[in-house]
Formats: sequence, structure tokens, C-alpha cells
Amino acid sequence: MRSILVLLLLLPAFVRAQALTQADLDRAAQLRDAAKDSGQAFSIVESLVTEVGHRMAGTPNDAKGVAWAVAKMKSLGFDRVYTQPVSFPVWDRGFESAAIVAPTPQSLNVTALGGSIGTPEGGLRAPVVAFTDVAELEKAPAGSLRGKIAYVGNRMQRARDGSGYGPAVAARVGGAVFAARAGAVALLIRSIGTDAQARTPHTGTMRYDNMLTRIPAAAIGNIDADALEAALAVGATTVELNLGSRVRNGSYTSANVIGEVVGSEFPDQIVVIGGHLDSWDLGQGALDNGAGVAITMAAGALIAAMPERPKRTVRVIAFANEEQGIWGGKAYAASQKEHLAKHVLGAESDFGAGRIYRLSTRVRAEALPVIAQMHTVLAPLGIELGPNDATGGADLSTLRDAGMPLLALNQDGTHYFDYHHTSADTLDKIQPGDLDFNVGVYAAMAYLAAQAGLVF
Ligand SMILES: [Zn+2]
Repeated sequence: MRSILVLLLLLPAFVRAQALTQADLDRAAQLRDAAKDSGQAFSIVESLVTEVGHRMAGTPNDAKGVAWAVAKMKSLGFDRVYTQPVSFPVWDRGFESAAIVAPTPQSLNVTALGGSIGTPEGGLRAPVVAFTDVAELEKAPAGSLRGKIAYVGNRMQRARDGSGYGPAVAARVGGAVFAARAGAVALLIRSIGTDAQARTPHTGTMRYDNMLTRIPAAAIGNIDADALEAALAVGATTVELNLGSRVRNGSYTSANVIGEVVGSEFPDQIVVIGGHLDSWDLGQGALDNGAGVAITMAAGALIAAMPERPKRTVRVIAFANEEQGIWGGKAYAASQKEHLAKHVLGAESDFGAGRIYRLSTRVRAEALPVIAQMHTVLAPLGIELGPNDATGGADLSTLRDAGMPLLALNQDGTHYFDYHHTSADTLDKIQPGDLDFNVGVYAAMAYLAAQAGLVF
């Protein structure tokens, strides 16, 4: 308390005048505490995965998800609920199977990577060449993998902040390009996930180079990857791969779903929170990203239930199709070209259902004293104040690059990548109390950002 006072006294007068009042901070603390044990976010995500199921972009469940989000936001007391069209190409998964066929037959649990083409009619059968990581595959000379399946075995490392994901996921995103350049007929990867005791493969998006042949790309679970590597250690190993995936002709139009608590003094100034509504199709998309949708919707609902509206508008967005190319986030940013400067602060929830342990930021140095005030509401929860170099989530990345300030409410992701993009991403992985914790933080931060009389 004392350090905050000293800090405020040291501030230039104009910033001090724009700082948060004690009444603002008290109301934020009430929001934080009101979320505790409410169970509201859990009931939202339970409703989503039970009544809609997964929300893979372009599937019938995509439209069901949009209708669900509109109805849910209306029922939660937002002042305005509306949609914004988002169009994109549609990828169909189709059938998928794989097996080691020689020397010792064994089935492999496989999943196509999002965007992958299918295998030729009847599948393909080819010897496997292993690479430790995508950097090694990138060095494979042109033609050296002709008629072969390239396999990349890098293993994702577990970390609270998910920092193992970036280095490992390069194999999934870019592997097919390097494999095709070396002449391979398919790419197979060890799943990008931290589960060591599962045969569950992890899907996720990948890309092609338009100048190169497109080859099928798929992931196998960690235990199956171990088995494949054991076979390769003994000698030549042949794998059969059967994928029915394809990109459909034409495009599909989904929607971003937007709910607003309209500001009382500056309704055109926006504090944006949200997360993507779409998911992959293997599980329920409970952690990724039913949780983020539920957390931010419930936070908006808490603010909507206050006796008075905050000064600025709090806008909650359930984004369309993040997984296959951030289509919703890009469409939203394009629609706001004229209003970018009105986006005061953004925060995105897309990292599962773990508790928040750190408040990181990306704001002007002049705003840091107000961030320190905001943090006083989170400190009793054990949340630390992190650095001012946050990058935020994918859906807000376009707005961030255009200069929108960010809060990153960093969640504990120690176990997130055990289930990420798998059939095991189901409701049972979510603790209701953990969601309540997140809701309290999002509600308090969004409210204070809407009250603070400064540009972050
Ligand atoms: Zn996600």
C-alpha cells in the first residue's frame, strides 16, 4: 500500500489525475471475489461441449457454436450481442489410419495435420527416414528422400509457461515443406504434446509452399513414436499411411460473436477480451478453447451485472476459426481499421483452464504506474507482476501489431499440452474453481481498464 502511495506521489500530475481511484479498485476487488465459487464459467463450457460439441471450422458444429454463443451472450446480460461474418476455406479430416507394416507389423494411432491433403487412393506405403528435428530435415538435400516418408521425432518439453511449444511445433508447421523439397512422399511427426504415457496423437495446423509438391502430413502419439523409433533403431522400417483429408472447393462463412457492456462515458472506447470459439474435432475442445470463451463471457457477465456501467465499453469476442489460420482475429482487425486507436487494451484467454500466475503487459512506460495499481487487486491471489514485453494470443496479434496495448494473464500450462489438440481435450480436465479464479482476474482487469482515464 505504502509503495503505491509513494509511486503516485512521484508521478507527473497529469498521470496522477488519470490514475484509478480507490473506489475503482474496491469495485474490482468485489468482481474478483464475486467470481469465487460461482461456477458460472464451468456451466458455460459444460453447456458448450454438451450442446454443441467440438467446433471445428466449417463443420455443421461451427454454425451450431455461433448460434450457441449468440444465445448464451444474450442470456448473460450483455447490452448488445451481434455477429460479424468470417469466410475461409474448409478442410475435411476424413478417415485416417497408419501402421508399421515391416519388419514387425504394429498399428499406429495417427491424426492428419490440419490442412493436409490425403494420401493417394488405397494409401501409401514407404520406408521411413528419421530426423531428430525440423532443422535437420531442412538440411536434407533435394531428391534425397525420394519415395520415402520423412519422420521428425522432436519431443516437446514440459513448462509452466508453455515455452516448449514454439521450438517443437516448427516440425508440425513447416515439416511438410522441407520433406517435399527433399522428395519425400509424406511427413510423419512425433506429436507436439507433453503426454508421455499416451498413444493419443495431437493434431494442429500445418502449411505448404505453393512452389512445391503437397504431401500428406500426420502425427502419431508419443508412445507410438517411441515404438517407431525403436523399430528404426533395429533396421529398415516401412509404414503404411491412409488419410482421407482434403481442402473443399469454395469457402464457408462463419462468424465472430461479439457481446458488449456499453460504456457510460466513453462508449466508443473499447476494452477487448475474448478467445476463439472454434476447436479441433478430435475431442470436445473444452480446454482449447471452450475454457477461454467461458472465462471471458463470464467475466463480461459479471461486469454487466454491476449496478453501474463502467466508463468505457467492455467488448467480449468469441472468435471464429483461429486454429486454421486466425481467420476470425484477422477479420475483426480488418473491420476495425478506422477504430484501432479506440482499442484501449486487449486480453485474450487461449491457454486452457489453469490458474493465472502472472500479469504481463505490453503498454507504454507511462502506463506502468496504473498497471501497478491494477496489480494490487491481483496480488492477494498470489499473482506476480511480470515484464512489459508480453506478446498476447493469436486472435489479438493483428491488433497488437497495429499498436494495441495488451495484458497477458499468464496461466499455468504445465499440463495443457498433455491434451492440446487431442481426443482427450474433454470437460473432465477442467476444475470449476480454476475457471472461477480466471474469471475474477479477467473481470477485475477489464473493469479497471475501462475505468482508467489514460491511454495504455
Ligand atoms: Zn487455442
